[in-house]
Amino acid sequence: MPIYEYRCRKCNETFEVIQKVNEDNRDLRCPKCEADRPERLLSAFCAGSAKGGSSSQAPGHSSPGHS
Ligand SMILES: [Zn+2]
Repeated sequence: MPIYEYRCRKCNETFEVIQKVNEDNRDLRCPKCEADRPERLLSAFCAGSAKGGSSSQAPGHSSPGHS
């Protein structure tokens, strides 16, 4: 599920919301001041889950053969 980042227009609080793709966000409120209709920030689609491996890892130690 993607994580969206929002910013409250009223108090500038930023917060992240995990949403389903098709889920409506009309009910979203600022967790701080409860203002509605926060502004969605562009971000966080690839929120740093430990997937991104740009570093070339050495091949695993576990060799399946050798029985
Ligand atoms: Zn707020």
